[in-house]
Amino acid sequence: MNKSISKIKNQICWASKEIYQRGLVNMGEGNISLRVEGKEEMIITPSGNNYLNPLPEDMVHITFEDKTLIMGKKPSSEYNFHRMIYQERSRAKCIIHTHSTYASILAVQRLSLPIIFEEMLVFLGGGVPCSAYAPTGTGELGKKALEAMGKQNAVILANHGFLIVGRNAEHCVFGAQLVEKMAKIYVTSISMGKVYEISEENLSNLTDRFKEEFSTI
Ligand SMILES: [Zn+2]
Repeated sequence: MNKSISKIKNQICWASKEIYQRGLVNMGEGNISLRVEGKEEMIITPSGNNYLNPLPEDMVHITFEDKTLIMGKKPSSEYNFHRMIYQERSRAKCIIHTHSTYASILAVQRLSLPIIFEEMLVFLGGGVPCSAYAPTGTGELGKKALEAMGKQNAVILANHGFLIVGRNAEHCVFGAQLVEKMAKIYVTSISMGKVYEISEENLSNLTDRFKEEFSTI
């Protein structure tokens, strides 16, 4: 196996353990992928990923045209939206999808997460919009996710969970944790009363930083 493929597989194993330990995913649900640089290929967690003890040899190397390059484990059934996002966004190098609790509360309410903390502008590019509903595993889910995501890096998937796109695995792990934390603050706050949102109008220094360092478009 060439060195970069082996490195990518190890990064997915690292990200698997990180999001599991941070309580963003239960065993077997969600998925993580990384783009194979310079190719129409990605490496994705297998269906029913073991987040506690992920093995590099279990990660599935697949082309964007759905051709499995290394036979073995079955790729996650949701590989379709990963493929579509990589094809649409040239700077997207990593995608994490989870069904974490607070983001999923917004997902079942079909609510977007507004800008409530400045760091959302820097790392996510703004709020986290909620997509229209589409069944899991379909190309329609990817289409709806991309439509709703706009210029941002994350999107809530109606009645499902959320996904985040990043320029590398570290960005994605950090961003996934941020989305869930913001969702928790928002869900808890609206149950207590009024929530004040931030306008991005006078914060162009933050949106500029997003464009330079974190945007995946
Ligand atoms: Zn899912």
